[in-house]
Amino acid sequence: MNGGYCEHCGRIFYPERKYTCPYCGSNEMKRIKLPERGRIISYAVKKDKDAVAVVELSNGCRIIGVVKGDRIKRDVKIYKNEEGIIKILKEFDLLEQ
Ligand SMILES: [Zn+2]
Repeated sequence: MNGGYCEHCGRIFYPERKYTCPYCGSNEMKRIKLPERGRIISYAVKKDKDAVAVVELSNGCRIIGVVKGDRIKRDVKIYKNEEGIIKILKEFDLLEQ
C-alpha cells in the first residue's frame, strides 16, 4: 500500500497526494510504501457486523479501514492481547473515498 510523503514538512498521507501538500503548500511530494503494522485508535461495529476502524500506522499516518464481519472476533482478540498492535494489511480492506 502506497502513501504520499511531503519532503518539505514531513507529513504522510493516505490516500497518496501527488502534487501539493495541504499543510505547507509544497509540491515536493514523493510516493512511499506505508508500514504494514498499526494500532487501532477506534472502531465501531455496524449493523451488518462489519466494523469500521481508525488505524494509526507505525509512522503516524492514520487511515480508515473496514474489518469484515468474519474477522471481527479474531481482530478484537488480537487487539486486546497485544495492546492494540495488529497487522492490518491482510486484515483490512481499505475504504476508497
Ligand atoms: Zn508539506
